Amino acid sequence: MSEFYWPEPDLSFLPGTKAAGLGEASYFVCHNNNILQLVDENEAWRPATLEELGQFEGVHEHYMGMLGGKECFAVEASGPGTAGFSNLRMNIQNIDRTLFNLAGRALQICDWYRCHQFCGRCGEATTESQSDRSTVCAGCKLNFYPKLSPSIIVLVHKGDEVLLGRNHMFPEGLFSTLAGFVEPGESIEETVIREVKEEVGVNVSNLSYRGSQPWPFPNSLMLGFHAEYQSGDIVLQEDEIAEADWFPCTDLPLIPGKFAISRWLIDEYLSQRGIPA
Ligand SMILES: [Zn+2]
Repeated sequence: MSEFYWPEPDLSFLPGTKAAGLGEASYFVCHNNNILQLVDENEAWRPATLEELGQFEGVHEHYMGMLGGKECFAVEASGPGTAGFSNLRMNIQNIDRTLFNLAGRALQICDWYRCHQFCGRCGEATTESQSDRSTVCAGCKLNFYPKLSPSIIVLVHKGDEVLLGRNHMFPEGLFSTLAGFVEPGESIEETVIREVKEEVGVNVSNLSYRGSQPWPFPNSLMLGFHAEYQSGDIVLQEDEIAEADWFPCTDLPLIPGKFAISRWLIDEYLSQRGIPA
């Protein structure tokens, strides 16, 4: 059997909305959907200390919870100062998975707060709720919570072949599993069948849920499936998919790295077939 990476549930972080003020804390500093770029002695991404936070003016803090005995805060900096900010994607090869998920959480909390300063129903200003993660309209009392977009990602398989596609936004030569957003009123399983049909024209059955990954670009929760090919020839949805094809499990094209759920889905299928990844 080949090795594959499918993470165990990580319970090391304890979420919350009220800080206790325990002293030393970790600050996940965001500015315009980018994250403060800091690395430790091993060149791995790390959050900021209180001292490092001092360089920013006009910060707004949101308590996120506890990690390793330290309180963790999402911080929106109104200006970048002299510090370097980068897209969290740029750190994906050199960040611990717990910190990746926390940095993604911080980016989403800051984005939610920035985008819900006014009520979408009546236009009044909102205030931050003291009891949960929401802003509340001063006029009509409507609450606004951080938005999550459930999405499916699916490896379509046919014996020793798998169906992989290349989105127009991917670099040349990079193929991945198919993905798409859940629509209102749809079950997750219906989304899988519809998205595969829309993107590549084939019918699938025997869906098997494998696991999930938060994907904060900007706010997806990826729900991963294996699905068995049933019928149909590949017909591309050309405005979204540049290329798609069947690939032998023993001769795959360039695929995403080990940090991504698409890779976990592929590696697990290879493992199930007894093929080295
Ligand atoms: Zn309102």
